[in-house]
Amino acid sequence: MALAAKTAFPSECCGILVGKKSEKGEIEVTEIREVENQIHGGEEATHFSIDPLFLYNIERELDKSELEIIGFYHSHPNCKAILSDEDRKYMVPGLLYVIMSVTAQGVVDVKSYKKSV
Ligand SMILES: [Zn+2]
Repeated sequence: MALAAKTAFPSECCGILVGKKSEKGEIEVTEIREVENQIHGGEEATHFSIDPLFLYNIERELDKSELEIIGFYHSHPNCKAILSDEDRKYMVPGLLYVIMSVTAQGVVDVKSYKKSV
């Protein structure tokens, strides 16, 4: 995940966290899926979007397994690992949102957020 963020710098990277949720609500991320960011080189460097069709295909694929989409990750190049207004707006309750602050040196901070259901 950190490598993806550093490789994509100064663009954003984003991806999907795939894993399992236990009955106790514990989360285990077993896999990350890198997604091509739909927005490249825009002025809004703290925004990401994922192709809905791509998401749909993953959900269909995971339907057959015990895995599910746990959340999303994306990077904020030269920006703090805090939710932007845009991020906040599109958050789905119950999903995990990991934000990585990345500079030319690499990832400097990682934070995760969750909107309560
Ligand atoms: Zn963001």
